Amino acid sequence: MAENPENEITEKKSLNFIEEMVEKDLAEGKNGGRVQTRFPPEPNGYLHIGHAKAICMDFGMAEKHGGICNLRFDDTNPTKEDTEYVDAIKEDISWLGFHWENEFYASDYFQQLWDFAIELIKEGKAYVDEQDQETILSQKGTPTQPGIDSPYRNRPVQESLDLFNKMNSGELEEGSMVLRAKIDMAHNNMLFRDPIIYRIVKTPHHRTGTKWKSYPMYDFAHGQSDYFEGVTHSLCTLEFVPHRPLYDLFIDWLKKGQDLDDNRPRQTEFNKLNLNYTLLSKRNLLALVKEGFVSGWDDPRMPTICGYRRRGYTPESIRMFVDRIGYTKFDALNDMALMESAVREDLNRRATRVAAVIDPVKLVITNYPEGKVEELDAINNPEDPEAGSHKVKFSRELWIERDDFMEDAPAKYFRLTQGREVRLKNAYIVLCTGCKKAADGTVEEVYCEYIPNTKTGESDSNRKVKSTIHWVSAAHAIQAEVRLYDRLWQCENPRDELARIREEQNCDPVTAMHQMFNKNSLETRPCCYVEEFLADTKPLDHFQFQRIGYFCTDKDSTPDHLIFNRTVSLKDTWSKVKGK
Ligand code: ATP
Ligand code: MG
Repeated sequence: MAENPENEITEKKSLNFIEEMVEKDLAEGKNGGRVQTRFPPEPNGYLHIGHAKAICMDFGMAEKHGGICNLRFDDTNPTKEDTEYVDAIKEDISWLGFHWENEFYASDYFQQLWDFAIELIKEGKAYVDEQDQETILSQKGTPTQPGIDSPYRNRPVQESLDLFNKMNSGELEEGSMVLRAKIDMAHNNMLFRDPIIYRIVKTPHHRTGTKWKSYPMYDFAHGQSDYFEGVTHSLCTLEFVPHRPLYDLFIDWLKKGQDLDDNRPRQTEFNKLNLNYTLLSKRNLLALVKEGFVSGWDDPRMPTICGYRRRGYTPESIRMFVDRIGYTKFDALNDMALMESAVREDLNRRATRVAAVIDPVKLVITNYPEGKVEELDAINNPEDPEAGSHKVKFSRELWIERDDFMEDAPAKYFRLTQGREVRLKNAYIVLCTGCKKAADGTVEEVYCEYIPNTKTGESDSNRKVKSTIHWVSAAHAIQAEVRLYDRLWQCENPRDELARIREEQNCDPVTAMHQMFNKNSLETRPCCYVEEFLADTKPLDHFQFQRIGYFCTDKDSTPDHLIFNRTVSLKDTWSKVKGK
């Protein structure tokens, strides 16, 4: 058979650099041909959209190559961690549609790590330093200047062993001593200048309680945990590039030259997800929650997975977005519009079309009999014939959108204005005859006459009109609250802006956040009307409110008080606003 080089190229192109690496490793038989990854969140907050990118990579890579991915909580800092976060993280990963083989905790390895640290002290590769953090930092040197040795660097092994035990007995204060790896105070990688590997923390741990008072630092826990578990590919984000040599060194020390095959985890880094108009990082998100900028971690304006869920994003839309932005070695600022177009595309396929009026004004059809009610068919989803249809009631008085009527309309206004005809969606064509206004000029009611035989399928249904508007029957509609959301931040790159303001004004992050916050990011409309069909909607149901956008039933919605969140508008209004 003739070769098909073109096809080969196409296939190669669609692999990202990590997939290429994994395939190469498999072909070379590295790690016995296994693929094992892990997703290692610190349970110090809820997951955000950036984590979704890491999750899709970690779980996706294992799935694709018949391997496994474990969930490992990196719980080495008890002051910030909590089981509330552990539970939320698990819920979010499952919701995104991924499955972890095992649930592990870095705290499962505290004993092994402790024993390893003792070994290092005995081998002269670690020592207890009694200086405070500031002094240690001041001795680090600069990238061009070597650091200064700690006066404790060459203390006797036994002294370090005794003190290390004391660091865990409770008799020493936090910050009074640390254990440092003895590497090279002149190393050109600053992380090698005798890094701190253990520090005293007296806050009880969410899993191990008060058993430990001394905890391993990230660099001393992460690679070793990978090794203990048999991770083959340790995938993380670019800020860990300088940590990689240290990761490898500790694993070399751990293997002690006994295990000479190449069975070891290897760290590979990819670019972080960074979205415009969005601030990620759990630290910042926690501040938003604590300071009351938002109603909680799942406020629909939050870039958390639970925020997006509540807002009406689907797992498929998030995965589609992550897939589209891809993985590279370069930092980028991704456009929010890409994320919104992914959710629009997905909801277009699945959301039931309904009528809802979010800025209501009454439309009275003066020639339609009072008390008469017709039941009309409304197609659920034109994209999906299987979705069927539902009934809507039509009567003399309807709610329509206020901006679908204009008194002195320009020629190009094709909606309701005196003398103009429009179609009422799924119903008749009507001719606008005028309106009634309040003393202040506000339009109170709009009047029209319906034209018989203009419903779909009827004799005059082909009559030409330039637009179709949506409506709900006033006697049958249900009042509902609708929440419209906008960006939380006014600036395109809030991460840099936050840093800039803090530097310029020498202020704390919250003060800076107040200056960047979009005070109009939530608009609540308590008095909207939705069609009867929505009476028994359940939280997280997705709808398209015709001509307005995609909406989702809020978790606090009840049959007596319906609440809908706008997921996204129908069109990309944001790019237009930006372009102005
Ligand atoms: P944050 O600074 O937001 O708290 P983190 O990196 O401290 O994030 P972890 O819980 O330690 O959060 O991270 C778990 C995994 O998620 C890590 O492998 C990390 O690299 C990855 N991750 C975190 N933020 C992003 C992001 N914006 N894009 C891609 N991956 C991310
Ligand atoms: Mg972190």
